[in-house]
Amino acid sequence: MTFTRDTNIPFSRDSLEQLLKRRFFYAPSFEIYGGVAGLFDFGPPGCAFQNNIIDVWRKHFILEEEMLEVEATMLTPHDVFKTSGHVDRFTDWMCKDLKTGEIFRADHLVEEVLESRLKGDKLARGETIKEEEEDEDKKKRKKKVKEIKNVKLDDEVVKEYENILAQIDGYSGEQLGELITKYNITNPTTGGKLEPPIEFNLMFDTAIGPSGNLKAYLRPETAQGQFLNFSKLLEFNNEKMPFASASIGKSFRNEIAPRAGLLRVREFLMAEIEHFVDPENKSHPKFQDVKDVKLRFLPKDVQEAGSSELIEKTVGEAVASGMVDNETLGYFIARIYAFLVKIGTDPSRLRFRQHMSNEMAHYASDCWDAELQTSYGWIECVGCADRSAYDLSVHAARTGEKLVARQMLSEPRTVEEYEIELQKKKFGPKFRKDAGTVEKWLTSRTQCELEDLSKELQENGKITASIKGVEGTVELDSDLIKIAKVKRTEHVREYIPNVIEPSFGIGRILYSVFEHQYWARKDEAERGVLSLPPLVAPTKVLIVPLSNSAELQPMVKKVSTILKKEKIPFKIDDSGASIGKRYARNDELGTPFGITIDFESVQDESVTLRERDSTKQVRGSIQAVVDAIKDITYSDGNWKEGTAHLAAFNSE
Ligand code: AMP
Repeated sequence: MTFTRDTNIPFSRDSLEQLLKRRFFYAPSFEIYGGVAGLFDFGPPGCAFQNNIIDVWRKHFILEEEMLEVEATMLTPHDVFKTSGHVDRFTDWMCKDLKTGEIFRADHLVEEVLESRLKGDKLARGETIKEEEEDEDKKKRKKKVKEIKNVKLDDEVVKEYENILAQIDGYSGEQLGELITKYNITNPTTGGKLEPPIEFNLMFDTAIGPSGNLKAYLRPETAQGQFLNFSKLLEFNNEKMPFASASIGKSFRNEIAPRAGLLRVREFLMAEIEHFVDPENKSHPKFQDVKDVKLRFLPKDVQEAGSSELIEKTVGEAVASGMVDNETLGYFIARIYAFLVKIGTDPSRLRFRQHMSNEMAHYASDCWDAELQTSYGWIECVGCADRSAYDLSVHAARTGEKLVARQMLSEPRTVEEYEIELQKKKFGPKFRKDAGTVEKWLTSRTQCELEDLSKELQENGKITASIKGVEGTVELDSDLIKIAKVKRTEHVREYIPNVIEPSFGIGRILYSVFEHQYWARKDEAERGVLSLPPLVAPTKVLIVPLSNSAELQPMVKKVSTILKKEKIPFKIDDSGASIGKRYARNDELGTPFGITIDFESVQDESVTLRERDSTKQVRGSIQAVVDAIKDITYSDGNWKEGTAHLAAFNSE
């Protein structure tokens, strides 16, 4: 499709956001009650656009890769998130203004203040700053943010700031506290002093049932529901590895400071994949198909050196050089890229940023975020992490369920592993009703834990442990238990799969597409256009009768009946507004095609087809026009080829 965007009208976030609200793509929830930060409702075009994106996602990932879709509950008991580590570690750092009680997310505050000081420095040096930066700058000035002043900084300080900003995602709470003190960062609006950062858990808590005894959380990701169903999924897949599961559903995070519209909200739609793979073989059978895809990477060493310079490489080169850890991770990075481009993100504003060592979860072996550039900066829209065997291991250890895959060995092999021998005759009478719980605890220990327990037994003659569900401390001496390394011949290899997890925040992607596809046409006035790809556009066709004369109505009916039969979403605009106005309204809704019905249509059943971006028009029979729409929208066709069988039309 040819985009005509040579209007030179600079991007205005304000105009876009007004458009999105005016056309009810989305709007603040509970608005007439004053709204709640970080919560949004979607209107008709927003729902249709999101559904279309999800539909493409399902086809691109679930259908193409034969993934197994799961829908798990959003309410999750405390124990699950205790085990996964979310109760202890799913936190952000916040700091409070001692005087006003205002709360800031510490990393964002440091980032914003340093960025605005750098902008002030640029202005003081007489340099120009980019349009959108200027927009932001002006807004902050209006709000009387004291921090933005045209103050020249020492060259050394500029370097320090740039270095910190390149690594802003990797700082601990303590380090953020040091930065706040060192650079005298205060409440930007009042200049008030801030308390040192403290941890805030982002999960919403609740209780299940009337007693309130079963503590629970609203899930902050869909992943755990997939891990807990691993064994059922593997069985469903006829025990075949590797395989992937997928979930699409709402997640909840009690963000400290929701901001930037859909980009940081408290309830959002996620689409997540868990690809289970053999840790000893992370190759991917379809890697060959993507190895030549060229992408822009921001690896961790570049960021750690304080730079943001992108490196262009093919996925094949990235994996071969070890920059991307393995083929499966590389395969998904390329597939994520293809998906994002298909639904309308601009590839020149897309990069893959690797997590720095201090930013990555301790269990992950590699992690890349697909980031999209918007007027709010580079935004993480898809995370793609190799989570190793962490989740399945911790849930197995906690529940005593084996979460493993099995591989028949072509040759039997000898393995040496720690094994437990219990003196059942003494064990039962000693622990009575708790015997089952203690035994389950022992048999669910990992090899590393068994190694530690065996050392403890050797050194102290006993093991001491606190076991959930058993009162007091449990003691097991060498009369009751023996732990020793035993050699066995194995015909089947049992292993805990590793997991590669692409995790999509749909709202962030949606908003980025809006920014990447928004532009303004200069007619009598500036008119906004959303050049959404036809495949994901909320409505595909606008039917426009030239006038509201009764004579045209049968044709309107005829065209709409055919579109309904073909399942092509359309809208009729038979309002009295001028045809130009009616098209302009639909440009704002991102409707890619218009079918105009005029008096000639009544004579010969021909109609005009208009393309949104170029405003080009062609004419033909209703069926020929509908075929062109179908081809361009659903079969990857383009305007030129899709309408080659139609006659050019000039309305002048
Ligand atoms: P994470 O599990 O933190 O890597 O998040 C996975 C994806 O969810 C991110 O790549 C974002 O697209 C999205 N996401 C995370 N937090 C939010 C939020 N507060 N609002 C909107 N999207 C979010």
